[in-house]
Amino acid sequence: PEPERIAKAIARAGVASRRDAEAMIAEGRVTLNGARLDSPAVNVTPSDRITIDGEPLPTRERTRLWLFHKPRGIVTTARDPEGRQTVFDVLPEDMPRVVAIGRLDINTEGLLLLTNDGGLAKVIAHPETGWLRRYRVRAFGDVDQAMLDGLRKGVTIDGMEYGPVEATIDRAQGDNVWLTLGLREGKNREVKRILEHLGLSVNRLIRLSFGPFQLGELEVGLVEEIRTRVLKDQLG
Ligand code: URA
Repeated sequence: PEPERIAKAIARAGVASRRDAEAMIAEGRVTLNGARLDSPAVNVTPSDRITIDGEPLPTRERTRLWLFHKPRGIVTTARDPEGRQTVFDVLPEDMPRVVAIGRLDINTEGLLLLTNDGGLAKVIAHPETGWLRRYRVRAFGDVDQAMLDGLRKGVTIDGMEYGPVEATIDRAQGDNVWLTLGLREGKNREVKRILEHLGLSVNRLIRLSFGPFQLGELEVGLVEEIRTRVLKDQLG
């Protein structure tokens, strides 16, 4: 990595703003490779050892990403005001601190991505990133392919605009129908609202994939880490 100003390195580690880091240096609180600094005009690389008030600068952890097969009945928020069980309550003990990339509703199952990198989570979840989300849906009501084809040009419901949806009918099951849907936004209750608009009520919703990542055979309630090399290939 390129050398950079020490105040910038401190700021990137999330310890202080650049300006505050410069002030700490002026106050004599920062050492570089064991020597106390009195000026911020030095460059550093990750191999340099920096301390502030005697504490080593935390090294930025490498970005990690996990697939999680979310069961139904738990919420994706970190702390639920109603005290319901959350995704974070059921993760394995040895997981580091992670955030979810986007959300699945309480009764939605399937693929939820987790990462230790909050910045990455924001980028991936941002509507402009436009990753394809594929869902398998069981819904109650009458539908034909022509109705679903109408969703391809997007739909506005109660003033909210939804982008193009690709939907196909897989099979009927009693009074229900199984559909596969693909969409690229991730708005609140998107699948349910769009299908409700067609007169269907969703009673099972399973996310099969999110961008390049597939639920595959991952068992309910389990996590699987994406290997770093795969991550680099997919995220650039
Ligand atoms: N659409 C929904 O309605 N709910 C989800 O959890 C995900 C997409």
